[in-house]
Amino acid sequence: MSPYPVADAHVDLITHLLEQTPPLPLPAVASGHLTVDGLRAGAVRFMVCSFYIADSFNGPGTASARLTRLMEAMGAMTAPLRPAFRASTMENIFQEETGPAGFCHLVENCDALLETDLFSLTERGVRLAGLTHVGGNRLADGNAVVCPGGLRAEGRALLHDVAAAGFAVDLSHLAEPGFWEVVEDYPGPLLVSHTGLRTFLDRPRNLSDEQAAAVVERGGLICLTFAPEILAANNQASVDTVTDHIDHLAQCHGTAHLGLGSDFGGFDGTCAGLEDCSRFQDLARALLARGYPEACVAGIMGRNLMDFLGALYPA
Ligand SMILES: [Zn+2]
Repeated sequence: MSPYPVADAHVDLITHLLEQTPPLPLPAVASGHLTVDGLRAGAVRFMVCSFYIADSFNGPGTASARLTRLMEAMGAMTAPLRPAFRASTMENIFQEETGPAGFCHLVENCDALLETDLFSLTERGVRLAGLTHVGGNRLADGNAVVCPGGLRAEGRALLHDVAAAGFAVDLSHLAEPGFWEVVEDYPGPLLVSHTGLRTFLDRPRNLSDEQAAAVVERGGLICLTFAPEILAANNQASVDTVTDHIDHLAQCHGTAHLGLGSDFGGFDGTCAGLEDCSRFQDLARALLARGYPEACVAGIMGRNLMDFLGALYPA
């Protein structure tokens, strides 16, 4: 089997590098979820790298300072990976068989965006906005909030602004009341960058069948994670578990709206058979073994995400 080029919709690369002791640039990381050799072995060609802002930073000044810190570190620590903020550049990198992978950005927890110029963010490759992490912020409630509410006034105002700036909204982590408001009202593209499915593990972090159907109806992309804690009870997830999640959506909606958002760098625990980024092609093999046509496998492994990004970023 020649490798299927991989595009990953959610990678916590910069957090991963900053959390090494001491913090290390990518080429100096020898093991773990994300390494230069692993990306090459897994045929990872493109990644959406998250600027993840922990809820402890939420608030005026602190959240935007954290975002600035992450953006500065990204430039300094991720060479030889290639920033690619135009559709044509992204596509060229994705189609190459060798050479370092490319990346663009999403913000995971957009509290900081209340004090950040959105157009300067787009120039730095950010065109995907995940409104919350697990807690509540000034915009909305995340998946861990008990009895969550919908979007707050600042959240609705920010949505208006990110739509005008040409962003897609990432629905991951958003509690259900806010989720449905965004699905119904947001005029731009929708993504779920890293998720599991409630039919396998029933918790607010995961998508219900109704939510998944609504995202598909809106033309959105749903990307399955490798984070074991949201794939299976007792963290007992494997490559077969991920394949089961993919297959559930594929049986309901086909494969055109499916992708992968590993969340590598952003979780503890292990998905057996998908321990790190070098193992992506084992998932392609698992899909082929279940009878998926090659074009569908190529779509899930990366083509569908590249088409989504190609429509989102300037030509
Ligand atoms: Zn996350």
